[in-house]
Amino acid sequence: MNLFNKKTNELSPYVVSERKLKDEDDWLILDWNESTFRIDEALKESLIEFVKNGQLNLYGDVDCRLLKNTLHKTLGVDESWVLFFNGSDSALNICFEAILEIGDQVLALEPEYSQVDTFIKMKGGIKSSLLLSTIKKPTVDELNLYLKGKRIFYFSNPNNPVGFCFTKVEIELLLKQNPSVMFFVDEAYYEFSDTSVVDLVSQYSNLIIFRTFSKAFGLAGIRLGYIITNVINNSLISKVRNGKEVSSIAQLSAIRVLENYNVVKERIREVVNTREWFFKELLEIPGYKVFPSLGNFLLIRHESCTKIISVLREHRILVRDRSSMHLLNNCFRITIGTRLEMERVLNVLKIQEM
Ligand code: PMP
Repeated sequence: MNLFNKKTNELSPYVVSERKLKDEDDWLILDWNESTFRIDEALKESLIEFVKNGQLNLYGDVDCRLLKNTLHKTLGVDESWVLFFNGSDSALNICFEAILEIGDQVLALEPEYSQVDTFIKMKGGIKSSLLLSTIKKPTVDELNLYLKGKRIFYFSNPNNPVGFCFTKVEIELLLKQNPSVMFFVDEAYYEFSDTSVVDLVSQYSNLIIFRTFSKAFGLAGIRLGYIITNVINNSLISKVRNGKEVSSIAQLSAIRVLENYNVVKERIREVVNTREWFFKELLEIPGYKVFPSLGNFLLIRHESCTKIISVLREHRILVRDRSSMHLLNNCFRITIGTRLEMERVLNVLKIQEM
């Protein structure tokens, strides 16, 4: 007998990247937009020390006070605006839970990061898709039309998987003109774009920003994300959030990485420079169409997309097939690593053309 509810039974699960790799060290993992930089020795030492001290019997600090303070000192974000979660996915899930009523509509673009579909559906919300007609961002006027009657507008900025980015001016216009819509601005990749709407939090109560330590900070494995929103929203969401969300290991790791923010900035610079170089190199190879991106990834179109993905795989390089998504036939997405790593990719793509 199936004892699960209708929503679970009807769900189409988010398909995660396939990771059954032998001799993992050899692989270039460019399919899930993680950082390709390994954690540094200092952080490794801190973690070993922490485990040796044997305090894993206790929960982490439920208020993440030291982490909040370190984030404030490093990025200047007001501590009373911040709440930490077990990854930004968990932040999204809990914020949908705190805001959606059954039957509420959530506007999302397509193509878009589709993990949120599950969260919306499980809260009894209805996703209303704005199917883009071309692979570029819609205008403010177009969005205004679609925003009528919606409870939430979710979008990743830069957009995953395309890489386009709404400007602060565009987002502010939308916030102003739609005060009854809650804006979920997912800034998972903002570090690679230099665009953030954090300055708008003090003025707009209909804004929640989502950020993660999984990309630029290179800590996907520890699971840490956070939201930035005004104090009132923050205290309401705190009522739904589980105080034990964030492990002590996650808190410690993030504090150490924030203390070495110069290293993070250096890595971001390397990825951005490599992205621009790789973009230009691809344009030189016949048959490739590549879309400008402000994330740590590029969306690439080629008639032989499936073949290219499997040739890359034979060379132990993983990329993400996006060809089944709306508008993205023959497209795959590749994470940008270091210049050296992307030279390895380019060599395979060049041989493939010959
Ligand atoms: N938002 C976007 C746009 C993403 O691409 C991802 C990860 N692929 C996430 C959120 C999830 O991040 P986290 O690891 O913090 O849950």
